[in-house]
Parts: sequence; C-alpha cells; structure tokens
Amino acid sequence: MAGHPKKKYSHANQGKRRSHLALAAVNLAPCPQCRTLKKPHEACPHCGTYRGRQITVIKTKRAAPGPA
Ligand SMILES: [Zn+2]
Repeated sequence: MAGHPKKKYSHANQGKRRSHLALAAVNLAPCPQCRTLKKPHEACPHCGTYRGRQITVIKTKRAAPGPA
C-alpha cells in the first residue's frame, strides 16, 4: 500500500490552504497612442508601440474596441 495521510484534513484546514489559490485579475492600462487597454511594460498589441516608439508592425488593422 502506498503512503497514506495519518489524519483527516478538516474542511476548515482545507479552506485555509485554498485561501491562497485565487487568481488575481490582470492589470490593464490604456495605451497612450491608441487608448486601448493593454498590459503595462509591454508593447501595445493593437498599435505595436511602446513608449512612443513603433516596436512591432501590426499586419491586420482592427477597429479599436474602446473609446478612441
Ligand atoms: Zn496602442
């Protein structure tokens, strides 16, 4: 027989362990160029700029989902 827990884990202790398992929401900030929401410290996936410079070339033009 394989290794087995010596004591039953109570529902309270199970909940205490799982209190740290929640996923945090992704932080998004508006792009200064096109105003779409993007992750901070990353090039904008919509317009391809970072800190005012063109980093990547966006091949397909998509309409901005946010206010622009
Ligand atoms: Zn942008």
